[in-house]
Amino acid sequence: MPATYRDALRAALLYLLLSVVWLQISGYLLNSFFDSSAERLRWQLINGYVWVLFSAGLIFIARARLLRCLGIGAKLRERDADRMRLRQATAVFDCTREGVLVTNREGAIVHVNRAFMEITGYDGEEVLGERPNMFKSGRHPAQFYQAMFATLASAGEWSGEIWNRRKSGEIYPQWQTIRLIHDDDGQPSQYVAVFSDISAIKNSEHELMHLAHHDPLTDLPNRLLFSDRAEQALASAQVHKRGCALLMIDLDHFKMINDSLGHTIGDQLLKAVAGRLKGMFDPGITLARLGGDEFAVLAECCPQLVQAAALAQRIINGLKEPFAIDGHQLFINTSIGISLFPSDALSVEQLLRNADSALFKAKSTGRNDYALYTEELTAHAQQRVEIAFELRRALDQQELQVYYQPVHDLKTSRLMGVEALVRWQHPQRGLVSPAEFIPVAERTGLIAEIDAWVMAQACRQMCQWQQDGVVLSFVAVNISSRLFARRELYQQVAQVLHETGLEPACLELEVTESAVMDDPEVALEQMHRLRELGVRLAIDDFGTGYSSLLRLKRLPVQKLKIDQGFVAGLPWDEDDAAISRVIIALAQSMGMQVHAEGIEQVEQAAFLLEQGCDLGQGYWFGRPVPAGQLNWAHAPVIA
Ligand code: C2E
Ligand code: MG
Ligand code: MG
Repeated sequence: MPATYRDALRAALLYLLLSVVWLQISGYLLNSFFDSSAERLRWQLINGYVWVLFSAGLIFIARARLLRCLGIGAKLRERDADRMRLRQATAVFDCTREGVLVTNREGAIVHVNRAFMEITGYDGEEVLGERPNMFKSGRHPAQFYQAMFATLASAGEWSGEIWNRRKSGEIYPQWQTIRLIHDDDGQPSQYVAVFSDISAIKNSEHELMHLAHHDPLTDLPNRLLFSDRAEQALASAQVHKRGCALLMIDLDHFKMINDSLGHTIGDQLLKAVAGRLKGMFDPGITLARLGGDEFAVLAECCPQLVQAAALAQRIINGLKEPFAIDGHQLFINTSIGISLFPSDALSVEQLLRNADSALFKAKSTGRNDYALYTEELTAHAQQRVEIAFELRRALDQQELQVYYQPVHDLKTSRLMGVEALVRWQHPQRGLVSPAEFIPVAERTGLIAEIDAWVMAQACRQMCQWQQDGVVLSFVAVNISSRLFARRELYQQVAQVLHETGLEPACLELEVTESAVMDDPEVALEQMHRLRELGVRLAIDDFGTGYSSLLRLKRLPVQKLKIDQGFVAGLPWDEDDAAISRVIIALAQSMGMQVHAEGIEQVEQAAFLLEQGCDLGQGYWFGRPVPAGQLNWAHAPVIA
């Protein structure tokens, strides 16, 4: 190589080297003079785009213009950034979970991404060249698409919910954004649609709506939806001058099933009841579960009372067949309250309230029946609310008292025992009968406290009498059916006996026949446990329930109390006489004592004595009175 060339090359390399050093330094310097571009310039240099400088060096040599060289550097970097941006966009396009579809200006699909294929079920090749209307669900009218394209044309973008069809044929909701892309000349060139499958969101929205309006256990409409539908039905009935009936259904003694067999069985029973009810009705009837064991039925086109009553009877009969749940055969009775539109009430709320009052009447008059709403029921309902409110205070303020009614041996007229009967000395209303407040106490759950209190009082009083030298065989207390099914009863009785020190044989527990027969198996177990304590057991109001003789025989009971309803007609009413005779014979054959209550006349007592009844109780012997007023000396003699 000639020396001149070598020198020229050496000089060029030297320039190059110097320009690199100079540019590095000037980058820092320029940084202080140029605001935003200074920053860029610095990074460009430090990041080592040395090859840019190389060409800069050449220009530098040629024209000695440094800034020109920097301009070229910036251009090269932009192109690189474009490439990077493109790579990023491709990655996003491929990885995004949103489906992307690109069409050309003619509307033919030119590109789809992976998510598109996953959501729609189509492969890329299947859709390229096709038009997006191949995904149409048929759910939207033509106007929907016209409006969409109009927005796209005017605003360049459209977003909204749209139903499309997958390859499988399934239609599903999408949230879609379509954007119109223009070319450099400002002409529409492509449409890009980005969408997500919102069926999961829709489903959960739907589920939420369903949950808010349905009872999760039975899947029946809940109170909210029922009221809503009832409103609509009443509005339509008003227009068409039709009558409707609202029936409130309550399962008798359902709580006992829960208490004795557990909530799982209780839940299964409720489901089975709901299922059976559903099967009973035509589409014109709305059925709902209002809560607990309460169901409601709204029958449209039910103008007459007779039709509503027939429907109620159909429900009662339909639920009579036993339910087979988890190896148990469960029998349930039903009580129904009926209220009619428009004769009883004009609003859903009032209809519900009236039906509830009627239901209460059905329950308090023996259950397993229906009752119709009457106006005086409203007054009663009002009273019940007040009683429930005041009863708690009554317990706290010791307004309750225990009265005792004598029980005599019919043969000898001797006083044998007493029945403890609760009374409420109301500050304004005076003495309130238990018939009025016991059902309310049972509904509100206060009955447990009341019965426990009466039992403790009665046992204490019995101990007192014994200390005073009064000879009585027993003191009887009433046990509410609500309490009877509970396991705590045994504990409660044992505790009272322990605390008062009363001989267990002196305490008699009266349980009504219906409470026993509601669930004979549980009753049997409970009675055996109570018998182990040594207390006496009596079946109260016998003859009013539906005792199975076979079951009765197995019960460890010492006494049957003939309900006063059968005593009232004695001795002249033939039916009452026949029933009393049968009960006495039955009790004797099973080795039980017979006790007749409600004896008001000597003829009744005489008839019962003649039939072999052992014990008698009633106004003829003595009314219930406070302990201090019991008349020990007098014992009327049956002639
Ligand atoms: P029951 O256990 O069958 O009590 C007998 C009812 O008949 C008592 O009514 C008594 O006063 C009434 N009676 C007695 N002799 C005659 C008579 O000669 N003629 C008439 N017409 N009635 C007579 P009472 O005290 O009003 O009690 C009504 C029901 O309330 C009781 O029926 C019992 O089921 C319930 N009860 C009373 N006290 C309690 C209690 O402490 N706990 C529970 N759970 N229930 C109670
Ligand atoms: Mg009684
Ligand atoms: Mg009774």
